[in-house]
Amino acid sequence: MSLNDKRCKCPFAIKMNGDGCQYCQPQTAIDLLSSVVDDLEEESDQQDARSRRLEAENEALRKSVEELRAAINGHMHSDLSSIESQQEADSKLWAIIKE
Ligand SMILES: [Zn+2]
Repeated sequence: MSLNDKRCKCPFAIKMNGDGCQYCQPQTAIDLLSSVVDDLEEESDQQDARSRRLEAENEALRKSVEELRAAINGHMHSDLSSIESQQEADSKLWAIIKE
């Protein structure tokens, strides 16, 4: 405590209370500041966690879109190949009938 700091305008009673300014109660001011910094750090950690969670959700969404796209492609291909094999089967059948 530096009770004689000229920058301090606190009444004597407040200085004695420990509720003074940063000049007469530097430790209190430091504690207050560091608790504000702690709060900010915590908030920033939470933001980080949230953005990591969003990134993971994005990644999951991107994966399901890719899977859907692959499934649609696979479906189209299997439809096409089933049409082709159907035609093939038909022509084989025709060949048998004609013989
Ligand atoms: Zn003061």
